[in-house]
Amino acid sequence: MYIKKKDRQLFKELDDNLILPRKWEEFISKRVNKNGLILKLKKKFYLCVHCKIEFEEEDIKVNDYCKCPNCENHYLVKSNRLQFYEFKDELAILDRYKDYYVVRQFRLHTTYKKENKNYYYGRFSNYYYEYGRVIYDEKLYPVEEIINENVVGTINGWFISFRNFNSIEWRYMRSYYYYLPNQLIYYPYNLEQVLSDIKKLKYSQLWELVKHVDYLDLIYLINNYNPSVELLTKLGLYNLALCPKSFANKKSFNDRFMGLSKDYIPFIREYNLDIDELTVLSYLKVKNINYIKRCSGLTQEQLKDINRKVNIISLLNKTDFDKNKFYEYRDYLSIAKQLKLNMKDKTTLYPKNIKKAHDKVVKEYEEKKDKMLNNSIIRRGKQLKCNIYQNKTYIIFPATTYDSLIDESSQQNNCVRTYAERIAKGECDIYFMRLSKDREHSLVTVEVKDNKVVQKRTKNNQVTTKSQNNFLQLWEDKILKGVRNEKRLNENN
Ligand SMILES: [Zn+2]
Repeated sequence: MYIKKKDRQLFKELDDNLILPRKWEEFISKRVNKNGLILKLKKKFYLCVHCKIEFEEEDIKVNDYCKCPNCENHYLVKSNRLQFYEFKDELAILDRYKDYYVVRQFRLHTTYKKENKNYYYGRFSNYYYEYGRVIYDEKLYPVEEIINENVVGTINGWFISFRNFNSIEWRYMRSYYYYLPNQLIYYPYNLEQVLSDIKKLKYSQLWELVKHVDYLDLIYLINNYNPSVELLTKLGLYNLALCPKSFANKKSFNDRFMGLSKDYIPFIREYNLDIDELTVLSYLKVKNINYIKRCSGLTQEQLKDINRKVNIISLLNKTDFDKNKFYEYRDYLSIAKQLKLNMKDKTTLYPKNIKKAHDKVVKEYEEKKDKMLNNSIIRRGKQLKCNIYQNKTYIIFPATTYDSLIDESSQQNNCVRTYAERIAKGECDIYFMRLSKDREHSLVTVEVKDNKVVQKRTKNNQVTTKSQNNFLQLWEDKILKGVRNEKRLNENN
């Protein structure tokens, strides 16, 4: 890739002048410490891999969070059979060089590995590398995105992938569909100084805010800055301060906090709730962080939708429900209802494992559907028996079972089996036309609608011969539209 001489010069100057800040290693180790795990040894017994201390606690589900009583960190709970786990973090430094602001982007890997089978916990290790830089002008408009060898373009897209710890091979990031991530964990300790030229941020306390949140789009926050950021930061509601637009121009407290009263502030502060979590809290009004995390991302509408059908708190209490299972659970309920399962039974209403329960009812429904279809086709086949017609060469008779449709379909290599539902609904009829002396083998598949042949196909959807057409025409005139049919209809009336 050609790189303009002026740019090449700038990239080199950046390499020569940007250094890792003083407290960088401290910043990294703080982050690494947040990437811990708590192993579930058995029911109500846990081990914090960070402190290597065992403790007893109420029953907590795998993939929920638990607070270690010793280090007081909130860690993800995993089974003690876990062999490998990796946390990936995007870290960033906002720096200043001449009239430019530069966001340096790093990837941090924290990996957990259980190497020795005799121990019941493994070890953590970590490494990091720089992969991209976004260069802004003094007004914070982006000028250029550059990447090094640690970003790899493949036919499947772009990936951040480790190649080199200290790459200085900078090139332009010019893709219409890939951008460097902009939600990053920023190094906080240099921000007050780096941002000192931006007047509107003088009292903003942005540097304090950045210390207390994980991922943020700092450039967006600066460009959309309003006083609500400062206010929320001072209240200690750091993650909420990241959404200046949601809190701008709202006067009353209730209005700002989606109808929640001031009693909820300590809880919001303790767990540093973000805007999605606040939305869930404002609906559930239950101070249970794991319930809130599991529903985080669901909208008010979706929560309302669930609550119309079941009590959402019981659901959270009794099942592994989370936002990813929202659609699965909704489908489960509607299929279970069609299957006439007893919805008054608590274990049916709140299955312990939603995915399993969902797959089970779907399977049952499919089987039942096939049975129902088969019954309808048998019934219709009996009604159509009077339309069987035969001459020396050919015979034509209706499909009489679902299996006969499937058999015809595979012999003829056509899609007639998919007509089963339409037959069951009475929208059309399917007949098989075969040689009189060889009734087992398919010859022509015939679709009839309103006593008329609307489709006739031989193997592989080929057209019928003249002799076959003559026979079908005769059958249509004589039987389908003919006296016998009228007579049959009269008999039925
Ligand atoms: Zn601990």
